[in-house]
Amino acid sequence: MAVRLLIFGRQGAGKGTQSTRLSERYGAPHISTGDMLRAAVANATPIGLEAKSYMDAGQLVPDEVMLGVVEERLAEPDVVEHGFLLDGFPRTVVQAEALGRFATVDVAVDIVVPEEVVLERISSRRVCGSCGRIYSVQAPPERDWTCDTCGGEVVQRADDTPEAVAKRLAAYASETQPTIDWYADAGLLVKVDGLGTPDEVSERLTAAIDAHLAR
Ligand code: ADP
Ligand code: ZN
Repeated sequence: MAVRLLIFGRQGAGKGTQSTRLSERYGAPHISTGDMLRAAVANATPIGLEAKSYMDAGQLVPDEVMLGVVEERLAEPDVVEHGFLLDGFPRTVVQAEALGRFATVDVAVDIVVPEEVVLERISSRRVCGSCGRIYSVQAPPERDWTCDTCGGEVVQRADDTPEAVAKRLAAYASETQPTIDWYADAGLLVKVDGLGTPDEVSERLTAAIDAHLAR
């Protein structure tokens, strides 16, 4: 069965980590618009060049740009066959409405973590510049900030500065929270407590998703 999932959660809520796990469990490709944009920036594609200044400032990339990127990705054969786990899209009501015109969503999950906790997690977050795997100062790679998975360099994200983080959290509250409410109104939202170990959160997520899918 192809499952079509959306995952919401504030910056630092653990969305990236949980998305990798959910993608394996449900066999649906993990599509992170943040990772796609970072790859476009690294490759200096036209979209990357357009997106970079917004991203560095912690602002949302314009909806028109995002819609093109996502619509193209969702038309690829792996998605047609196995569904999707969309991480980081939609982030505005305009994006949610547009998504509804080219895809069906089975369930949207919101990982809920208080703001004090996410601020602390983001300041200690480190990521692999090549594959995107997430580490932290408390849980670094086995040696020398070299990724355990791919050997890439593990660094702090360019937009994990206090200023950019504050802007991203503000955009989350003003743009993305109404988007989450939109899915709640549509009866597609499940909320999950994001505190605890990654394993605890994964268990809550899969239980909530399975219960929703079985309805
Ligand atoms: P975060 O959730 O921590 O902000 P992401 O890795 O998901 O990080 O995204 C990084 C940046 O990419 C965002 O700050 C924004 O500039 C851009 N971006 C990603 N997805 C979207 C989207 N759906 N709409 C607008 N901008 C986006
Ligand atoms: Zn890596």
